[in-house]
Amino acid sequence: MAKDIIVVGGGIVGVCSALLLQRAGHKVRLIDAKTPGRETSYGNAGVFAEASFVVLNSPGLIKLLPKLLFNRTLKLRVNHLFLLKRLPWFLKFLSYCRAAHVLHAAGALRQLLTLSLDIHKDLIKAAGVGHLLRQTGWLKLFRTEAGFAEFSKELAVIKSFGARFTVYDREQIRQIEPGLKPVYCKAVLMDDTCTVSSPADLTDAYVRLFQAAGGVVEQTKVTGLNQQESGWCVQCGAQKFTADDVVLAAGAWSAEIASWLGYQIPMAWERGYHMHLQPGDGPALTRPIHDIEAGFVMSPMDQGMRVTSGVELTDRDAPPNYRQIDYSVTMARQAYDMKDRLDQTPWMGRRPTLIDSLPMIGAAPRHDGLWFNFGHQHLGLSLAPGSAQLLTALIENAPPPSAAAAFSPTRFRL
Ligand SMILES: Cc1cc2nc3c(=O)[nH]c(=O)nc-3n(C[C@H](O)[C@H](O)[C@H](O)COP(=O)(O)OP(=O)(O)OC[C@H]3O[C@@H](n4cnc5c(N)ncnc54)[C@H](O)[C@@H]3O)c2cc1C
Repeated sequence: MAKDIIVVGGGIVGVCSALLLQRAGHKVRLIDAKTPGRETSYGNAGVFAEASFVVLNSPGLIKLLPKLLFNRTLKLRVNHLFLLKRLPWFLKFLSYCRAAHVLHAAGALRQLLTLSLDIHKDLIKAAGVGHLLRQTGWLKLFRTEAGFAEFSKELAVIKSFGARFTVYDREQIRQIEPGLKPVYCKAVLMDDTCTVSSPADLTDAYVRLFQAAGGVVEQTKVTGLNQQESGWCVQCGAQKFTADDVVLAAGAWSAEIASWLGYQIPMAWERGYHMHLQPGDGPALTRPIHDIEAGFVMSPMDQGMRVTSGVELTDRDAPPNYRQIDYSVTMARQAYDMKDRLDQTPWMGRRPTLIDSLPMIGAAPRHDGLWFNFGHQHLGLSLAPGSAQLLTALIENAPPPSAAAAFSPTRFRL
């Protein structure tokens, strides 16, 4: 039966939720405090990372912890006060660093990632923005043999779940990406990974598709969620919107909004930065690269060469600290010739991460007609359409993909 549904949050996860619910025949209103797609979904590396299903909470993380906690790597910057304040979240996150969890999460994520990639390709075609899509893979790069050897454990899991990749040596790297400087001894090309040259343009195109089919977008901040005798009232300051069902897809803000209804969502924010640089005069990069040891990603974008940083663990709304992205840019310049910085200040976004590194997709445990779709950590762009399809199946009481239980809100006591 067709329903009136409000989606709160217009990042890539909310936009895909709105679009797929609409395609299933529902009347959908999408509400965002800003233009959709202008928070975390704006500034990511643009990778549909179908092979990135090995979660951060792995046994290997425990070994790396001393180095990570003392901020000796670019991959992670920790605000120690924040860590103390959020110690229960951090300890629970560490409690998932088990081989069995790595395999459980990999199976579930792999299913949702491959489903998502197929849906992204269909939506990109339907939206007429094929020019944004690159099917040239994603290159993981290693400066040392030891770094590559360390990655071999992750590679074994990647292989066991059927993702395709090719390993290259120094000379082959020069042949496939002649623009790179000779600082890398090994590379792993994730063969089937696709990327986009502007995540913001992609979200805009999906929003246009939604609106062209009658979908309504409201630009206003949600300030209250009230369950009524039948359905929901969404308060936006003085304005009110009613609906049969509400989907909460507000990324890093979802935990705060869910707390209005008494839910304690085990979420933290892995903040990250980007800076655009003008490419040099050498051969252009044909795909994003991930320097695993230095901890940055560099993606050719329509806006310039986008260098993105690793993780900053701190309060969601703490003032930005640009040290990590500045170092990332320095390291990126060692690998690729670039001219001036193009942004006045670096951009900052917030990856919403739950203690088991899996998103939360499904019915809110104590409220009929309220649905959760958030917590997509480093993979929100990659997972958004599959998450939306899973959510749609659950709302329609149709058979969901088999991995649904791994993402259910009921896996935690909220
Ligand atoms: C540096 C970096 C690189 C990344 N690279 C990749 C990548 O290559 N591939 C990948 O798959 N993922 C990547 N990610 C992760 C990905 O960007 C996120 O997982 C994804 O954007 C999360 O989407 P979202 O829709 O959940 O949240 P958001 O995009 O943050 O959207 C949430 C929306 O909710 C709205 N909102 C919040 N509160 C309210 C309110 N009260 N009322 C109304 N609206 C509200 C906000 O305005 C916002 O638009 C990266 C992240 C970072 C930081």
